[in-house]
Amino acid sequence: MRSIQHYINGQSVDIANQKTHEVLNPATEEQVAEIQHATSKEVNQAVASAKAALSDWGEASIAQRTKLLYNFRNLVLENEHYIAELITEEHGKVHSDARGEVARGIENIEYACGFAETLKGSYSEQASSGVDVYTIRQPVGVCVGITPFNFPVMVPLWMFPNAIACGNTFILKPSDRNPSAPEFIIKLMNEAGFPKGVVNLINGGAETVNQLLSHDDVDAVSFVGSTPVAKHIYESGTAGGKRVQALGGAKNHMVVLPDADIDLAADSAVSAAYGSAGERCMAISVVVAVGEVAEPLVRAISDRIDNLKIGPGMQPDSEMGPLISKEHRTRVVDYINSGEAEGATVVCDGRVHSPEQKGFYVGATLLDNVTTDMEVYRDEIFGPVLSVVRVQSFDDALDVIAKNQYGNGVAVFTRDGGTARQFQKNVQAGMVGINVPIPVPVGYHSFGGWDDSLFGDTAMYGPEGMRFYTKQKVITSRWPDPTSSQIDLGFPQNT
Ligand code: NAD
Repeated sequence: MRSIQHYINGQSVDIANQKTHEVLNPATEEQVAEIQHATSKEVNQAVASAKAALSDWGEASIAQRTKLLYNFRNLVLENEHYIAELITEEHGKVHSDARGEVARGIENIEYACGFAETLKGSYSEQASSGVDVYTIRQPVGVCVGITPFNFPVMVPLWMFPNAIACGNTFILKPSDRNPSAPEFIIKLMNEAGFPKGVVNLINGGAETVNQLLSHDDVDAVSFVGSTPVAKHIYESGTAGGKRVQALGGAKNHMVVLPDADIDLAADSAVSAAYGSAGERCMAISVVVAVGEVAEPLVRAISDRIDNLKIGPGMQPDSEMGPLISKEHRTRVVDYINSGEAEGATVVCDGRVHSPEQKGFYVGATLLDNVTTDMEVYRDEIFGPVLSVVRVQSFDDALDVIAKNQYGNGVAVFTRDGGTARQFQKNVQAGMVGINVPIPVPVGYHSFGGWDDSLFGDTAMYGPEGMRFYTKQKVITSRWPDPTSSQIDLGFPQNT
């Protein structure tokens, strides 16, 4: 059994006599690791270590930082199978999905490797006579990343490679439900040659997070998780004068128009709703069926669900694994019960995967005739439950999305370019797919939703990430020609 430790100032830190918490394999319900929650002592040590490393790391040349990031990228690539195994063992998602997560994380390291180009700054020669103006971007300082269970590797990689490339130091506080893969990649940073203290790892829960949030020497906080916690992190972090980006939960809609290719739409809905058992912030949880498309679409989705293979993530033919925990399984089943009680039609019932069976499984569930006042529509369920809301028109579909609390991802399925363009312009969400059900932006764009899916002004990774992790400085400089120097008491004007 693995014992997960904190990682501070270039070494693992074990806290003697502290209470440990169990980490379970959700497919077998067996304990695979134990984790200790940090006390204020370790939090203070981690912040002190990150602060002490700042000055030297900020002085490291672009060439040196880039070289180390490349080393790290290669080590993650070499170990991708093992990292994916750790993810599957503690999260439950199938191995191919876990490998996809690692691959998307590597994209973010590769983007950070190119930071020399991204952070070049700008220069205006002769803005006034003999005056040049230029903008440079400098590190923010000690950055903290707080991450969710559902992407234990990709989401940390959204954060720390970019933060470190920009000259900051970093403390990662991953989810305590699947801590082994994040611990492994942080140790690879050491192997890659990063100086001590540049990246640190602290394990814990709400208490640890709140200690980090209220620490005077923490300058910036990146958070990804559920909306209530994101709001709390944003409000308390900014109240303490920190820079904060906090990404929250989601309820992602997929609009299917009457002219759409039904097979393509059904394949996409099933992939996006049930991949990773619906535990993705970009999972499709609502299909908005416009007009007469509803009947054939519901039939096509239900036929596909019948053939889905549900089982342990390391079993090669499994397409969908278990949920993260027993409590979460109960929560998801309660939502299905509530949808049924409120009048939704249960077309495919995932509750048949009984609690007596080992593993926290819920089968793929399809609810038809869901209305926007039902709990099952309003709340983020974060499980393999797809609701179908039937509407009459394209405008009704846009209206449903606009009134939803969240605004993370959204998709439209149509063969009409003009309608797709209208959708792209008017839909109220941050990331839009056109015949693409999970529009997670590539590493050189940025990820972020609207409304209650993001608190703060900057999205994560890509160019927005680089902006978040740097402070702008503008320099106005005059190196006058010594032969034309004179006294002038007037207000400086651009001549
Ligand atoms: P969570 O909010 O429970 O936990 C996220 C992190 O916050 C963890 O590290 C956890 O230890 C910490 N935390 C939990 N409660 C806290 C509290 N009261 N105070 C301070 N810190 C606390 O989220 P989760 O269950 O781990 O992950 C699932 C959620 O994350 C879903 O809502 C999902 O939509 C969201 N998510 C969003 C995105 C996005 O990009 N918008 C991406 C992935 C996941």
